[in-house]
Amino acid sequence: MKQVDLVILGAGPAGSAAAVTARRAGLSVVLIDKARFPRDKLCGGLVTGRCAAHLARIFGQAITEDLFDTRRNFEFFMQGQDLGRLDDVPPLHLTMRRAFDAQLLGHARAAGAQDYTGHRVSTLDLAQNRVTLDRGEPLSFKALIGADGVQSIVAKELFSRAFDPARVGFALEIEAPAQTATLATPIRIDFAAARWGYGWSFPKRGSTTVGVAGLHTHNPDMKPCLSTYLDLLDTGQGAKIKGHFLPFGEGKSRPGRGNILLAGDAAGFVDPITGEGIGHAIHSGELAALSVAHAIGKNKPDQALTHYRRATRPIRNAIIQARLLRPLIFAPHLQAFFARSFANSRSLKRNYMHLLSGETEYPALLLRVLTRLPAACWRNIRRKNP
Ligand SMILES: Cc1cc2nc3c(=O)[nH]c(=O)nc-3n(C[C@H](O)[C@H](O)[C@H](O)COP(=O)(O)OP(=O)(O)OC[C@H]3O[C@@H](n4cnc5c(N)ncnc54)[C@H](O)[C@@H]3O)c2cc1C
Repeated sequence: MKQVDLVILGAGPAGSAAAVTARRAGLSVVLIDKARFPRDKLCGGLVTGRCAAHLARIFGQAITEDLFDTRRNFEFFMQGQDLGRLDDVPPLHLTMRRAFDAQLLGHARAAGAQDYTGHRVSTLDLAQNRVTLDRGEPLSFKALIGADGVQSIVAKELFSRAFDPARVGFALEIEAPAQTATLATPIRIDFAAARWGYGWSFPKRGSTTVGVAGLHTHNPDMKPCLSTYLDLLDTGQGAKIKGHFLPFGEGKSRPGRGNILLAGDAAGFVDPITGEGIGHAIHSGELAALSVAHAIGKNKPDQALTHYRRATRPIRNAIIQARLLRPLIFAPHLQAFFARSFANSRSLKRNYMHLLSGETEYPALLLRVLTRLPAACWRNIRRKNP
């Protein structure tokens, strides 16, 4: 039977980042994906400054014009109300996942990962450290990284379900015909386009990606939200609608077991406010591979999770802090308050943008909000009771 140090299941951003990092650490790596690449992945394709830094460090991947449309203009709405526009935000980059993921997989192949894309796993035996592919080939491993997305079969095997249905998000998206977009065409975010969620319109050169996302429990049927949103934007009618779960801030506190680790969406590493997941996927893929390399180096693969939990603490803490802030933005009874505060405050808009770009992290933002909240609440009470 073929034996390798590391099997990675899933060749999305998390899997490719893990593969490149593990190869750099000298491990033998098999990278399995049920899809053949290039393949589509439902996603807005917004790459933040934080994510761009991970791309450069892990893959040596620059923000190149062939892969990204860079934007510096952003506008915010809430249920049709204009909350303002910023025209000099830190750069944000829009990509199509079909090309982006294929490019990252190319880096993993070039680093020497054995490419098993286009193959499903028929059995996954975590107790025996063995996977068998659909073509009958068994593989034995010292460690395994489940980077197989929100419906992860590795997470299901470990925890009997891939995600918590009470916490997961759901998103619908379409590709609308390209606007006559220029570099100044803004990225648009609509808070409350779905309950406990938002809508987006991302103008790219080939098409405009338009979608809505929110907590699944509050939006059991998301289609009316998308249809209202498309009417509002007057675009996309008749386009093919696709849906996908989004692990909207349910970061697993134990992302794995022993020598089996989960990375990216499989671990629930998506920002509960912005919905950003690509950056966390790449970063956690890297950390998972480093943790495996460290544990194998000490001849104790079972200790990989201990290293990984320590390494991912900042990601998991950021998700917890964002979840604490989320009601201020998304709770229906606070929406009017949020809309007024956001529309009137350039610094609030800037904080949001700096968060997206990676120039502010949640601890700093949480502190800023907590120190200013009492005064804002007091102003709100006085406005209501003059
Ligand atoms: C509608 C929508 C819009 C989004 N927009 C953004 C955005 O603009 N910016 C952002 O940062 N994030 C966004 N996200 C989140 C982002 O898409 C994810 O967080 C990111 O793709 C996670 O990467 P990953 O590598 O963990 O998983 P994935 O990208 O999902 O990759 C998982 C891979 O595993 C493979 N796989 C799955 N099951 C198996 C199996 N059984 N066997 C073998 N292979 C398997 C899949 O084929 C896939 O290639 C969005 C998500 C949605 C749903």
